[in-house]
Amino acid sequence: MKKIAFITGATRGIGKQIAITLAEAGYDIAINYRKENEELKNTKQEIEQTGAKCLSLQGDVSNYDDCERIAKQIIEEYEKIDVLVNNAGIIKDTLLMRMKKEDFEDVINVNLVGTFNMTKNVIPYMMKNRRGRIINISSVVGVSGNAGQANYAASKAGIIGFTKSLAKEVGSRNILVNSIAPGFIETAMTDVLKEEIKEEIAKTIPLKRMGKAQDVANVVKFLASEESSYITGQVIHVDGGMLM
Ligand code: NAP
Repeated sequence: MKKIAFITGATRGIGKQIAITLAEAGYDIAINYRKENEELKNTKQEIEQTGAKCLSLQGDVSNYDDCERIAKQIIEEYEKIDVLVNNAGIIKDTLLMRMKKEDFEDVINVNLVGTFNMTKNVIPYMMKNRRGRIINISSVVGVSGNAGQANYAASKAGIIGFTKSLAKEVGSRNILVNSIAPGFIETAMTDVLKEEIKEEIAKTIPLKRMGKAQDVANVVKFLASEESSYITGQVIHVDGGMLM
């Protein structure tokens, strides 16, 4: 029986690359998206071209009822979930002096509460199977902090605390929970930065380049695999040495 991987926010960027990489590794895939668009169609097609099944499920991870429904839909189709990747995330960057209450709440609600919502609704099925892998996408700034990202850094630091606590709770059930802290990765999220700023940041990275979504997807594949079966509660930095 094929293993099932479910990735949130997987229409583009890192989530899309994770879905394709796990499909190539032999998993059947479920992806979550917020808005139906061309990107979603392309992603689904690329996943299916690998020979994997792809179930796509609309829903906002910050909405608990959406997450409950999505988890049930995956079980109806596949009967189990082996791997959950909490990837969906947003930014609303600005200095705290200018940050509106909604800017703070929205980012926490999608990134941190969304991770809770999806995990809470998926984990009972993993508990039943006495097997599971949960991989939460945090960020280097969840460890280091970053001016202009108090909301985002708080959400990503929260994900790390959540990951470690849950790893302690469910280790005895053979459910491994880890987090990845990407550095500066080429996606739509970082595309908003001016070319000069990107070049300046790249100079500060020991590997002298931005990361690629594939760099993150490779580590997800490892954390989902049997090769990582003695690793839990960890934060793996995929940042070209940006933070050490
Ligand atoms: P991206 O290109 O902006 O993609 C984000 C994805 O999340 C999109 O598919 C988006 O779907 C989805 N999403 C957003 N809000 C959602 C919600 N409420 N419910 C469901 N899906 C939602 O971002 P990315 O760069 O690939 O980032 C992926 C993850 O890596 C995020 O958690 C991000 O914080 C983290 N990360 C990224 C970097 C980086 O440098 N890029 C660095 C560190 C960490 P829609 O199109 O429908 O909005």
